[in-house]
This record gives sequence, C-alpha cells and structure tokens, in this order.
Amino acid sequence: MTSAEPATSLGEIVASDADADAEKRAWVRGRLLAWFASHARDLPWRRTRNPYRVLVSEIMLQQTQVDRVIPHYERFLGAFPTVDALAAAPTAEVIRLWSGLGYNRRAINLQRAAQAVVERHDGTFPCSVEGLLALPGIGPYTAGAVACFAFERDVAFIDTNMRRVLHRLFIGPEGERTTASERATLAIAAAIVPPGNGWTWNQALIEFGALHCTARRPACVICPLRDRCAAAPTIQASLAMGTSKSKSTRSMPFEQTNRYARGRVVEVLRWATDTGEDEEGIRLRDLGPRVRPTFSDADIPWLYGVVEGLQRDGLARVVREDDTAYDHGEAGGDIGNPMVRLP
Ligand code: SF4
Repeated sequence: MTSAEPATSLGEIVASDADADAEKRAWVRGRLLAWFASHARDLPWRRTRNPYRVLVSEIMLQQTQVDRVIPHYERFLGAFPTVDALAAAPTAEVIRLWSGLGYNRRAINLQRAAQAVVERHDGTFPCSVEGLLALPGIGPYTAGAVACFAFERDVAFIDTNMRRVLHRLFIGPEGERTTASERATLAIAAAIVPPGNGWTWNQALIEFGALHCTARRPACVICPLRDRCAAAPTIQASLAMGTSKSKSTRSMPFEQTNRYARGRVVEVLRWATDTGEDEEGIRLRDLGPRVRPTFSDADIPWLYGVVEGLQRDGLARVVREDDTAYDHGEAGGDIGNPMVRLP
C-alpha cells in the first residue's frame, strides 16, 4: 500500500501507522546524526572503548556536569589506571580521589563493581547488558551505556536527557498527566537505535539533550527536528507567552524582563525602518545584542518567544525563517536566521 491510498481495514490502518512511525524514526535518526557530526564535543571517554574507563566516566557523569567531570576523570585514572588497580586500592584512597565530585557513594559502588570484575571474571568485563547488570552497583542505564560505549552493542538505555528528547519528539511535552511511562519511552528508544550504529546514535542523543533540547531552554527555533517534534508547538507557545518567567521576574531588574525586551525590540525595529537600515528585517541574532547586551546564541529561543508574542499582538512580523544549515551539518552556520521587522 502506498501512503497516498486510504487504509480500508484495521490491518491496513495498523500497517500504515507502523510505516509512518518507521519513516519518522528514520527521519529523526538522519537529522540527529547530522547534527551530532557537527556539534559533538571531543570528550575523553569518547576516545576509548576500554570498559573500565567507560564505566568510570559513566559513574562520574551521574549527577555531575561534564566540565567538572573531565579533570576528575583524568586524575582518577592516573591514580587507578586499571580495574585491578582500583579493586586493590584502599577504599579511603578511592574516596579521597573522588573528592570534589560529591555523592561519594558512587565511589564505593564503583570500587565494588571493580572488585567483582576481578574476583568473578578474572579482570575481564562482561560485555552483555545482563552480565554487567549482575555487577554490584550497576543499574540498567549504566549497564546499557557500558555495553554500548565500550563493546559497541546496539542497545537502548535512557537517562534523564535521553528520556526528555525522545518524549518530546515522539509523545509531546512532559507534564503531570502526559508523561509516558519509563517502559513506553524505553520502547521508543529501542525501536530507534540504528543497527550497527548504536554507539554514535546513543552518544548523539545524549549530546542533543545536554546541549540543544535542554530541560529549561530547548532551542526549538533553531532545531533540525522541529518540523516533526510532537512537543515543539506547545513549547514554543509557552515560550512566546513567557510562562517560564513567572517565578523569576518579580525580583528581576526591569532591563531583564520580557516587558523591557518587547519595548526594545519594537524600538530597534522602528529605528531600522526609519533609517532604512534593514528594509527586509533584522536577523534574530543581530537583534539580540541590541535588546540585551549580554545576549548569546543560547538566548535565541527566548528572543524568538518575545518576537512571536509581538507578532501575535500585531507589533512585529517574522518575515523569513531558514534553518537549513543543519541539513548540511554546518556548525555555527546561519544560527538565529529568522528575520524580524515591523508589520
Ligand atoms: S523542537 Fe524543541 S523540543 Fe523538539 S527536539 Fe527540538 S529542541 Fe527539543
């Protein structure tokens, strides 16, 4: 059956839905992998397939930011370069080397896992998810991550960032009543892992959640996945209405409020029109620093929300959007491309 033909039976409808799901997954994969090719950070644990090093990085990255983890990772591996070295080390020394990362329980669990690898497996890590899960202190996420990032197994696993991205893309915005179960999200994660390319895919998903589709400031306006993201319309509407400001604006200086920004945008657009400086409009990225001196690319989603609000009120117009830079994986290309002008 072609997608143009109407489905005439339950079987055909189900098959048609399955085709649509598979087609969307393929589209998402292609776009996200292209994004990763041009945005991936060069992180030390991405240069190794050593399961011990991967495990150390995964345990450290739980609840700790990448920038803080890097020096600790190097230092820890300098002191305990192998699983045998960690297993044999005095626990007090392991905790001392962990200092600065917090959640010391992780150090204890890591050493217990290392001791189990040495005692039960003669120092060789199991390569299956099941084998890794049998180690003390290793949960489903870490077992999946080590199987994938050390042994290049095409397995699915989800942490907070991955869950958020998949949920937004395939289910919608997270909310009290709409948040899907862990099992449902994991099923989506399992269906989308590309055979033979699980390592890159899972790294890409993690990176996208950490840098682009973040919890509080998803960059929907410049997102290569926006066209087919289930959550994008709701999130953009919410940004445009400034719902995220509710808690913080009360004590915020006036210059940092959306009200001030709206006034400044109109002022700048009016000036540009009066002087003929920008007849076609002003790019969002060029407009930003004239609205807020500390403006950076990370503020583009916020500014887009402000501009959309003005557009809804008939005070501004978004005249052109072009986010095709991502199609070609050009880092730093035409980010902030939407043009804004007076109506
Ligand atoms: S459109 Fe927004 S919510 Fe959807 S994947 Fe992109 S950044 Fe995330």
